Amino acid sequence: MSVWAILVAAGRGERLGLDQPKAFAKLGDEPLLAESLRRLDASPWVDAIVVAAPPGWEEPTILLAEELGAGKVSACIAGGDTRTDSVRRGLAEVAERAIVVLVHDAARPLLSDDVVERVLEPLREGWDGAVPGLPVSDTLKRADEQRAVLESVSRDGLWAVQTPQAFLADALRRAYAGDGSATDCAGLVEASGGRVRIVDGDPRLLKVTTAADLERVAAWL
Ligand code: C5P
Repeated sequence: MSVWAILVAAGRGERLGLDQPKAFAKLGDEPLLAESLRRLDASPWVDAIVVAAPPGWEEPTILLAEELGAGKVSACIAGGDTRTDSVRRGLAEVAERAIVVLVHDAARPLLSDDVVERVLEPLREGWDGAVPGLPVSDTLKRADEQRAVLESVSRDGLWAVQTPQAFLADALRRAYAGDGSATDCAGLVEASGGRVRIVDGDPRLLKVTTAADLERVAAWL
């Protein structure tokens, strides 16, 4: 099974309030991107990697991959305006022979091989895609712009979904052939009729959004 990974790292990360893009925010002594790139490169499940870099940061991204000795990096391209655009550009660099495409957010540095293995499993059982998820445990409410509560929302059957997300390459290509947009890849695969399964996620796959998230991830490391 030829597994290609697309690492999307092109977000601006405005909520971090830094001059550089989120992928180059410091996690310890290294850019945030280094952790997920090193882990994907070391994973026995992954054959090749395409990185969607922040536009204008392709050169530092290539240098970082070289410094890390990330020999599986096959292409480094500029991401687009939205996550969907970045994935679409990355997908264009994935070899025709790829059977499976794994898409991962660079903003989730603590990727483990266990979760990669878990999302690959359903693909062998006939599913088009698999995503890691955590059951929603907080009470959910819908509110208006003044934060006046409009209603409570049942959390039955609700999951908070993470990455890495794994797909049969054909199903992902079909999903991205149109010009639809979604906040994760599974959203487009579902919309194009693909069957997607949820597997156990990992609380450590927290998506770094704020400076406090960066500190928390640094502590876990
Ligand atoms: O913006 P958000 O935190 O949802 O981004 C999730 C992931 O998608 C991040 O790793 C980010 O770098 C990536 N992204 C991207 N291109 C964009 C926006 C987000 O590659 N235009």
